[in-house]
Amino acid sequence: MSGYTRNTVLRERLEQVEERIQNAARRAGRPRSEITLIAVTKKFPAEVIREAYSLGLRHFGENYVQEFESKQPALADCRGAEFHLIGHLQSNKARAAAELFQVIETADSEKLARRLDAAGRPLEVMIEVKLSSEESKSGAAPESLGALIDAIRSCRNLRLSGLMTIPPWSEDPEVTRPYFAKLRELARQHGLPKLSMGMSHDLEAAIEEGATHIRVGTALFGPRRKD
Ligand SMILES: *Cc1c(COP(=O)(O)O)cnc(C)c1O
Repeated sequence: MSGYTRNTVLRERLEQVEERIQNAARRAGRPRSEITLIAVTKKFPAEVIREAYSLGLRHFGENYVQEFESKQPALADCRGAEFHLIGHLQSNKARAAAELFQVIETADSEKLARRLDAAGRPLEVMIEVKLSSEESKSGAAPESLGALIDAIRSCRNLRLSGLMTIPPWSEDPEVTRPYFAKLRELARQHGLPKLSMGMSHDLEAAIEEGATHIRVGTALFGPRRKD
């Protein structure tokens, strides 16, 4: 695809996603301004992020520290862009992550929080919560949230803003909806304002259940490389 064609396609997809967000917000009686669209750009090159930026997108989600490390130099002049780490973070990459990202959405242990804090940069942090017993998923158990929240709040460089979750995959958003409701309830209990939940196929259910941040990849950029 030429750059020109790709830009037109992206523009159309962005309009469609925007319409879905607005419709869901209207149904839920929520203002559109409460919802931040995070464009998930894993496996796409920096030039795709630049095109999304040129269309007005300012929040981007990346999954891998190393991958984003290689793209970041080509994005240094994108003023006002905010990059969220939405993939699992190992403690030994915490320092690098703190230098590359403005928001770490996947804090899930006290050890990781301490490592992020030690990097010495002001960072917004969300806690990834694991709401199902799926083996492969990372995230903090709901029972451990209280202690983890206290630990993060005691870190001078970290500002805890909310919770994030990745529910078990289902093509039926109604199967996923109870997980969204559960995350909202946990955030309410702990006095946390932000909720990062909902992806391309279930963003409506997430918005109806209170999402403040939705993470959308495929619906904007098409299918990803499989490797
Ligand atoms: C890849 C990814 C997304 C985006 O998923 P799509 O279905 O492509 O919209 C959202 N959140 C996380 C954590 C992801 O890894």
